[in-house]
This record gives sequence, structure tokens and C-alpha cells, in this order.
Amino acid sequence: MAQKLHEENYDVVVVGGGCAGVAAAVSAAKNGAKTLLIDAGSMVGGELITGLPVDGALNARGEWIVGGVLTEILDEHKKLGGYIGPVNDWRLIWYVCIDPETMKIAVSNVVRRAGVNVLMYSFAEDIVMQNGSITGIVVVNKQQRTLVRAKVFIDCSGDGDIAMLAGAQAMISNDLGEYQPLTMLFRISGVNKTRLLDFCVDHPENIAVGESEWMGSDLTPRQCAEKLREQGEAAIFFKGNGPLIQDGIKAGDISPTALIGIIPVSNERNEVSVNTTRIANVDATDTKALSNAFGGLVDQAWQCISFMKKRIPGFENAHFAGLSHRIGIRETRRICGDYILTRDDVFNAKKRDDGIGKGSHHIDIHQDGIMQVRIPVQNGGSYDMPYQMLIAKGINNLYIAGRCMSADREAHGSARVMGPCMAQGEAAGLGAVLSISSSDPGNIRNVPISTLRSGLKAQGAILDGTH
Ligand SMILES: Cc1cc2nc3c(=O)[nH]c(=O)nc-3n(C[C@H](O)[C@H](O)[C@H](O)COP(=O)(O)OP(=O)(O)OC[C@H]3O[C@@H](n4cnc5c(N)ncnc54)[C@H](O)[C@@H]3O)c2cc1C
Repeated sequence: MAQKLHEENYDVVVVGGGCAGVAAAVSAAKNGAKTLLIDAGSMVGGELITGLPVDGALNARGEWIVGGVLTEILDEHKKLGGYIGPVNDWRLIWYVCIDPETMKIAVSNVVRRAGVNVLMYSFAEDIVMQNGSITGIVVVNKQQRTLVRAKVFIDCSGDGDIAMLAGAQAMISNDLGEYQPLTMLFRISGVNKTRLLDFCVDHPENIAVGESEWMGSDLTPRQCAEKLREQGEAAIFFKGNGPLIQDGIKAGDISPTALIGIIPVSNERNEVSVNTTRIANVDATDTKALSNAFGGLVDQAWQCISFMKKRIPGFENAHFAGLSHRIGIRETRRICGDYILTRDDVFNAKKRDDGIGKGSHHIDIHQDGIMQVRIPVQNGGSYDMPYQMLIAKGINNLYIAGRCMSADREAHGSARVMGPCMAQGEAAGLGAVLSISSSDPGNIRNVPISTLRSGLKAQGAILDGTH
């Protein structure tokens, strides 16, 4: 039976409460816009609250390249306790290690303090358009269907749902129809990190190290492992082609994987997060296929825990501490914007006058089984992301930010990590406010880039002065 459509009005509506949507909504609300953040799930924060570290917030040289809303959230985490912070993996990245449990509270505090209206458990299912502009989004939840009107919309749905409904073009997969794997992250507590780090020093052939000229490419693997041990944090990348994992695969003790990535999440609980499970080449916008992947991923996680307890020193007395609340999705649709970020922009660390945020993560494309592409950004530097990549092509008032960004597949392999996704979201949030207060409200193409850039810098974004 048809339900009556309720109506609500906002200045800015953000669809998707992952890291990009959170940054967008906080940025818009802090600048005075009546802002609604909608998410289909039960909590805001996305991958900030699943056990992953924030990547792409520092370049390989260790310079911070993302600030703004990310800094505000990290500061809130520090106040609440348990923050670990930047850790060098002596391979090619600086992780910013966080406790996903504390992070749930930190994100919520920052979102509420900014004055964002949050609507959880709600799915954006349709849009209304007029003369090339979106005038409203239809949101459905248990209570009702609502036409949410706004002047500017920001699609941070990861899959570009709003852009697709508005008729935007999407870039999908590659010529081979491949998608980066789905992954179920899990956590293990009671880890003896001294034994684990000693094992890495004794058997450096198992770990990936020294892949960046800024991270030990002039050192032997053992010397890199010693640096890891000196640092004292269990940020370890057991590589899929190393003997430990290869023997495990041959013995049928683990599924083929490119990595057992160990990320510290809590020193109080001696807890790490593990990034290893994978089912590749699933289109995650196919909800049945996504749902069906759950069982296989959980089986892999459970098998890997036994393997780690049996085969990796430091895990003998450790125990399973939890699963991510959702399957991790690396890749679905990339929406075409006015500009498409390219592999060359990323690889060459390209700087530009219209940059609204930075990225520095290597081109990181996980594949089936033990395969993974890892190409560092040149010279340990960072690249600028232009304003035009935030604007959905052919639509007047729709920004795209985060995983559904406008980028070719290789550039996406870099900019998909949380640092740059949050920088994009933050810029879209402020851009929306500037557009609304202009003489042509809602026409986001008319936002003066210099005003946007100075506004972003004023709220702590890092746009200049780094490699
Ligand atoms: C396994 C894995 C490991 C990774 N490792 C790292 C890492 O170590 N460090 C790092 O920085 N990054 C890592 N990444 C990448 C990074 O975490 C993500 O690309 C990034 O978090 C994407 O953020 P987002 O906000 O764009 O999207 P998402 O986090 O996907 O958020 C989108 C949100 O939109 C909501 N949504 C979708 N459609 C609708 C709709 N129609 N209506 C309402 N709500 C909707 C969803 O519920 C979701 O909450 C990893 C990713 C994965 C999957």
C-alpha cells in the first residue's frame, strides 16, 4: 500500500555516514548549514570503527597531509583514551592506529558537537530532480517515507547511489571484470607483542618491508624488522608469498591471501586487528552476492585464528575478540566527476592550485588469492585532489566524496583510504555551504576555489607545504 510522503527541509543532505560522510556533515554543520546525515546502518564512522588504521593521513616521509575534521576526531579519541597514533610499518606506510571501540564514541561526539542531524536506519531510495538539480531525496525507514529537500546533496554512499539515481555515469571494475576483494576484519586480544616482534626479527623473510625509499629500502629485511621491534608496535604485514603463509596454504590451514595484516588497536587489551580474509570479484552492489559472501569470510577468519595461534609466536594464548560489524567493501562504482583523478596524478605526486585535499597512499589494489598491486607514490610525497573531482558530472548540486569518488581504477586504489576520503568529504561540506550562501545558491560549479581553500585551511585542512 502506498505510504504518505512526509517532507523535511535542510540546507545540506549527506547520504552515507562512513568516514567521508562524517567529514562532509561535520564540515557543513560547523559552517552553519542545517545538515542531515543519513545512513542505512546503525552507527556512524564506517571503517573508522571496524579496526582499521587511518591510512593516507601521513605521507611515507612521515609528514601529516590530512588535518581538519580528521584531526578533530583524533583529538577527541586522545581525550577519551586508548589512542595509539602514527606507526611506521617499515614497508611503505604510516598507519594512524586507533581503537575502534573508543572511536565509536569519538565520532559520535564530534558529529553531535558540530550540530549534525543524524538519521540512522534509513535508506535513500529515490530522488526528485528539476532542471539538472536534485531537489529532494526519498528516504525510507520503519517509521515513514520522507522527501528530504535540500539545496546541496553530498553522495558519500560508497556506491554512488544518489549519483546513479540522478543519471551520472559510473566507472566499474576493469577490462577483466575484476573487483577488489571483500574482507571481513576480525580482532584478537591477549597478543604477546614482544614474542611476535622477536619472531619478525628472526624470520624477516615472512614480512613485507622496505618497499619505499623512505622506509628502509636501503636496509636488509632483518634491519627493517629490528626497526619495527624498536618501535614496539605490532604493525606487521605477513606477505602472501612468504614461507609462513605459503606453507599454511599448502597445508590447507589457511585460504590463499596476499597478507595477514596485523594492526595494533589497543595496548590496554593487547589487541590487534587482522586484515586477511578475501573473496574477490564480487559486485558488492549485488545485495544477494554480498550477503552470500558472509559465511565464506567468517569461515576464513575462524580458520586463520587457529593458524595464527598454532604458527605465529605471540598468538599462542591470544583469543578471538570480535568481528567487524559489516563486510569490508573496497570497490564498487566510481562516479564520473568533472575531473577524473588519474594514476599519473597519484604516482607523480602532482600538486595543483585547485587542490582541496591530499592523498599519499600507494596504489593499492588487492586481487584474488595472493596477488596485490602496491606502487608507492614517487619520492615519498603526496598528490593534490582537485575540486572538480568532487562534482558529479552533469548534475548542478551533487558532490561525490569517498569510495565512490571520480578516479580511474589505479588512482582510486590510492585515494580510497580514509585520509583522502575524509579530505574530500570535508571539502564537499564546506563547498556546499559556500555555494548556498552565494548569489547562485546550489550551483556548486560557481564556488570560488580560493575561498574554499582558505576556508579549509582555516579549519585545519592541510593543502600546502608538504612533499
Ligand atoms: C578490508 C578493507 C581494508 C581497508 N584498509 C584500510 C586501511 O587500513 N586504512 C584506510 O585508511 N583505509 C582502508 N580501507 C579503505 C577505506 O576504509 C574505505 O575506502 C573508506 O573507509 C570508505 O569510506 P566511505 O565513507 O567513502 O564509504 P563507506 O565507509 O562505505 O560508507 C558508506 C556508508 O553509506 C551508507 N549507505 C550506502 N548506501 C546508502 C543509501 N542508499 N542510503 C543510506 N545509506 C547508505 C552505508 O551504510 C555506509 O555506512 C580498507 C577498506 C576495506 C574494505
